[in-house]
Amino acid sequence: MDIGFIGLGRMGFQMARRLAKANHNLVVFDTSADAVKRLTAIGAEAASSPSEVADRVETVMASLPSLEASLNVATGKDGVIEGKRVKRFIDLSTVGSQMAVKIHDLLAKRDIAQLDSPVSGGVGGAEKGTLAVMVSGPRADFDALKPVLDVIGKVFYIGAKPGSAQTMKLVNNLLSATAVAATSEAVVIGVKAGLDAGVMIDVINAGSGMNTASRDKFPRAILPRTFDFGFATGLMVKDVRLCLEESKAMGLSMEVTEAVGRLWETVIREMGPESDFTSAIQPMEKAAGVIVKGKPS
Ligand code: NAD
Repeated sequence: MDIGFIGLGRMGFQMARRLAKANHNLVVFDTSADAVKRLTAIGAEAASSPSEVADRVETVMASLPSLEASLNVATGKDGVIEGKRVKRFIDLSTVGSQMAVKIHDLLAKRDIAQLDSPVSGGVGGAEKGTLAVMVSGPRADFDALKPVLDVIGKVFYIGAKPGSAQTMKLVNNLLSATAVAATSEAVVIGVKAGLDAGVMIDVINAGSGMNTASRDKFPRAILPRTFDFGFATGLMVKDVRLCLEESKAMGLSMEVTEAVGRLWETVIREMGPESDFTSAIQPMEKAAGVIVKGKPS
């Protein structure tokens, strides 16, 4: 299929690379020339704007870092909305359901279908094609796209209502954010009491405390102190804030969500938005006067 791909960063590059390797014809755009070069080097064609991408193909995908970027790329000046051929816009970014609905409504005025398709599974999942791909939007467009999305991961149809896949993604990421926060606190408590962090992670992973942070993030990026898992603190905080907003918009008051939200605000303040999200443990270490390091078996 001819596919436009906009936003070739940590996630976008890997997803676009897999689509190119699966013999789809890609027309790509990114504000970073280096990001574009990495794709043209493996056969993609470059375009000079989102609207040019949308002039050349019917199906445009995007993987962008902020709500504003998705809104501008989809509906702004020189955006996808101005394209002559485009029929559907698939947003692989996490933007929350309210922004997804806003983009949907603006594109609908030009008869362009919008599909939310946020993904979960990190850069490693994007590289291996094992992401969880959550899709909401018109069923016919979903059916047409399913073989393409199969290339990037396991695909789930969440429903026709615009934004519902975003809600699914936000609650998933709330759990991921909670796992990193809670596991970091647990290990800091143990290390302060004199326990070995590597042994703790081994025990947790053999026991009932096992979770995605203890299984993946601690062994790969926290215990070796590389803090390079591949997801920025700024993006994690964006998702936690969006989840809080969605829950408040429905009149809910969620105690764990609010506590996790406060904790991540401390992380972004102390570590900065560009830090890797695994560095969430560092403000806790500082407050406790410990360093968490070690080797899991
Ligand atoms: P990133 O910052 O690595 O990449 C974003 C890319 O978009 C960059 O190449 C940047 O140059 C480009 N860009 C920014 N503004 C643009 C614009 N206006 N027009 C064209 N290109 C533009 O971000 P990422 O980590 O790849 O994340 C992308 C999306 O995927 C986010 O919504 C994020 O929440 C979501 N996500 C990320 C991960 C992860 O582990 N990194 C996992 C799941 C979901």
